[in-house]
Amino acid sequence: MDCLFCAIIRGEIPSTKVYEDESVFAFRDINPQAPTHVLVIPKSHIPSVDGINGENAVEVANIFRVIPKIAAAEGLSNGYRVISNCGADACQSVKHLHFHVLGGAQLSDKMA
Ligand code: AMP
Repeated sequence: MDCLFCAIIRGEIPSTKVYEDESVFAFRDINPQAPTHVLVIPKSHIPSVDGINGENAVEVANIFRVIPKIAAAEGLSNGYRVISNCGADACQSVKHLHFHVLGGAQLSDKMA
């Protein structure tokens, strides 16, 4: 399957990994939008939020167990934002479910 993030998980494309376990992988965004910008992804290929279902919900839940650990390790004690773009109107550019974790500065009060 021709998926950029699947290739990153397999180590075929280099990334700056910040976390990995059996089902979750996290790495630094190549074009950071905040001082800290980490992408947290499932190892399974789920195309977007629209692809979350009863069969993969545990894997997705694990992402949300990991995100606070990553935030703490990154020193985001003053807060952070978690975003997932889904589909064309949201400008999703990589069709592998990912959660942006942004922090390290005061973020905009506007989300769109
Ligand atoms: P989205 O636009 O929500 O689909 O987010 C995709 C994100 O992937 C963007 O923030 C890109 O900067 C990021 N990105 C694309 N290619 C890479 C890469 N090779 N390594 C790390 N981040 C990447």
